[in-house]
Amino acid sequence: MKRLATTCLIIPLLFMFFHTSVMAEESTTDILKERKALYEKMEAVTQIPWNIFAGADSYERGIRKGRNDRPQEDGAIAIYFSPEEWAGEINPNKEDTDPLSIQLFGGKGVDGNGDGISDRKNDEDILMTFASHLQKYGTEDEDLKIGLWEYYQRDKAVDFILGHAKIYKTLDSLDTDKYAFPVPTNRNYSYKNTWGDSRGWGGRRIHEGTDIFADQGTPVYATTYGIVELVGWNKYGGWRIGIRDTNNVYHYFAHLSRYEEDMDRGKMVEPGEVIGYVGSTGYGPKGTQGKFPSHLHYGMYRDNGYIEWSFDPFPNLKRWEKQS
Ligand SMILES: [Zn+2]
Repeated sequence: MKRLATTCLIIPLLFMFFHTSVMAEESTTDILKERKALYEKMEAVTQIPWNIFAGADSYERGIRKGRNDRPQEDGAIAIYFSPEEWAGEINPNKEDTDPLSIQLFGGKGVDGNGDGISDRKNDEDILMTFASHLQKYGTEDEDLKIGLWEYYQRDKAVDFILGHAKIYKTLDSLDTDKYAFPVPTNRNYSYKNTWGDSRGWGGRRIHEGTDIFADQGTPVYATTYGIVELVGWNKYGGWRIGIRDTNNVYHYFAHLSRYEEDMDRGKMVEPGEVIGYVGSTGYGPKGTQGKFPSHLHYGMYRDNGYIEWSFDPFPNLKRWEKQS
């Protein structure tokens, strides 16, 4: 009798759990579709390509995760304007929504959806305000680059945004939520959480990553969709490759024995794609190898719009390993 009661209790609970997780999945897809539709609508009106809106939006969504001076976005769009930027520095009403007085006080906010108000929290008004800036420079690729630089005043912002834009255009989708463990899980490998340990070579540095020990020549996979940002030698990391994903997160792979062909700066990669092979390079001048057992050093770095810092990749590695 007691068992029956427990079963009766568990089944509805399981159903509820299943139901909520399906709903959560649906709503993520819905948000991505809603965002893409918004970008496309704005492209039709402004001639700014939809994937440029998408790139800037995900750049700003990524930097919000790394700082606490910006509130959570209200709608589907993460591009941010402070009240002063929107209404104008000298506007006595920082929450002004009147397009005319905003213009009078030199604010940026415009009306994008034609309802006669410039609402700092309305997605279409935000995108149109952003587009108004870019339109001053033009809509060709080179113009957009200049417009983005003038807007963010940061080389990395332009690079990240154009990288994200390339990924979204190639996929014709905003869905980049796919990951891979960096080495084949059917091969020999081992790793433990070594993030933050002190390390022996090159002075006092902490270990900014996880070491995955594997045989020399084991393929190394890209873990996310991303753009190759760095390829080359460094006396610590040996042959390295760095990949930037659509959350602005930088994925760093070091000590490779060699690269996969065509791993040049600017190339787009996808999760599970072979980018290189495990080795033991580094800790000396170009070509040095064999000073330690072969392993992949894998690091992750977040960017907040100003600086980058390392965070522990171990929990992600555990998750991706389980999913593969
Ligand atoms: Zn390492």
